[in-house]
Amino acid sequence: MQPHQLDWAMRWLKNPKQLYINGEWLPGISKKTFSSINPSNGEILTELAVAGEPDVSLAVRAARGAFQHSEWRELTRRQRANKLIEIGALIRKHHAELATLESLDNGKTYSESFNDDLPESADVFDYYAGWIDKYYGDSVPVEKGFINFTENPPLGVCALIVPWNFPLLLACWKIAPALATGNTVIVKPSPFTSLSLVRLFEIINEAKILPKGVLNLVTGDLEAGEALSRHMGIDKISFTGSTAIGKKVAEGASTSNLKRVSLELGGKSPNIIFEDVKDLDSILERSFTAMFSHKAEKCTEPTRFLIQESIYDRAVAFLIRKAKSVVLGDPFDPKTQQGAQAHKEHYKKILNYIELGKKEGATLLVGGETENNPFLSKGFFIGPTIFGDVKNSMRIAQEEIFGPVLCLIKFKTEEEAIHIANDTPYGLAAGLYCDDAKRAHRVANRLEAGMVFVNHYGCYDFASPFGGCKQSGWGKEMGRHSLSEYTKVKSVWIRYS
Ligand code: NAD
Repeated sequence: MQPHQLDWAMRWLKNPKQLYINGEWLPGISKKTFSSINPSNGEILTELAVAGEPDVSLAVRAARGAFQHSEWRELTRRQRANKLIEIGALIRKHHAELATLESLDNGKTYSESFNDDLPESADVFDYYAGWIDKYYGDSVPVEKGFINFTENPPLGVCALIVPWNFPLLLACWKIAPALATGNTVIVKPSPFTSLSLVRLFEIINEAKILPKGVLNLVTGDLEAGEALSRHMGIDKISFTGSTAIGKKVAEGASTSNLKRVSLELGGKSPNIIFEDVKDLDSILERSFTAMFSHKAEKCTEPTRFLIQESIYDRAVAFLIRKAKSVVLGDPFDPKTQQGAQAHKEHYKKILNYIELGKKEGATLLVGGETENNPFLSKGFFIGPTIFGDVKNSMRIAQEEIFGPVLCLIKFKTEEEAIHIANDTPYGLAAGLYCDDAKRAHRVANRLEAGMVFVNHYGCYDFASPFGGCKQSGWGKEMGRHSLSEYTKVKSVWIRYS
């Protein structure tokens, strides 16, 4: 791992950050700014421009112009692929710098930013560059005298709205396939974590890789997000965030121009552990990491462990031990295993859920307090918190907390486990551990989730579709699925006789 770039970052943060529209840095029409806060100490990192509806309109005009302009439109597939590969290479070149900004802004440990977020952010550009000459239409056998074939043209101007938990990575998951298929893009990061994207846009701008207007960045919150959802000049909105805001985005799209919408939303994922497992400790070790890494701000994390009755007490003892061993603190200290929650409101929301869990009658086994925390007076730290004796009807088991609060639920039979696992409005991910292959297939088949992990919770690969069902969203990211999210199908008929 390369050393962090905190000295560089402190110099870079001195200047306020602007919007990037049509290849230029602009202060925003209203000239209003907002502060980006370091969640590890509550201090202001820098100021950023607030984008409002007029800025969004400017970005839409720029993106539309670039979409129609030959400089972008008429690139060969190979040329477009090379541009994506160049972006990936630039991310690698600035790896430590971008990882430093991510940890400063989001609070996750530098090693998580450096080893998890950054490599994937770069590699996803290579992955989609590789698809560009392999994604094409079909030749369709139709009635005599006609040829029919399909093409997959780009949609046009795509708005990409991302949350604060993997700020750079989740944006790159969207930017790479959107550009690979020939669209132009407006990105809106979360107001809590815009810095790594601002820096990435600076890097791409300095390298002069893309024609003006192909890539635009609007920083801000609700006003910019709403303007993007409702804008008549946007063809597609790809949103990752909460279910509540996802519904607003879908409403904005449906009451404006019916732009295409994909939604990657919240989760309350179950992790079922059956009593026949051979190595319970290593299963719990993996499950603990799947739950608490990145300070448990991951949409797919298994927030409900469903544990079969006969192994429940052993599992509880192991998990308490493990939770107590976690070192909280400065994300840049190599000893730190868990950083700060991403922002203050979120931190308070998690603490409220912990209070609620106690009131609802769940047993607080470990955590829940912020004691022994060297940053307590300023930073937003909450240690791994585990509730036992949780009933699935409790709000802590039904609602997405999106922080380090784990619910342990006991079950007796396979049927009961499936029922509890599916008894939630969400359907993002689900996991199960068992040694009986027939049971594994049977249960996996009945779990209502977009992703099911058998005997290893949390597997990801660019080639495999990512996304949920029920109130966890619409559509899929990754693989060729993402390409179809950014293209339309055009059917062309030719009469030859
Ligand atoms: P959020 O919904 O509050 O915000 C997401 C984005 O939407 C931000 O950029 C925000 O500024 C913007 N926004 C706010 N109001 C808007 C509006 N009215 N219209 C349009 N955009 C608006 O989510 P968050 O708190 O930033 O992130 C946490 C949530 O993200 C969790 O629910 C988590 O499960 C979800 N998430 C899902 C996935 C997935 O792939 N399914 C991945 C990561 C995070």
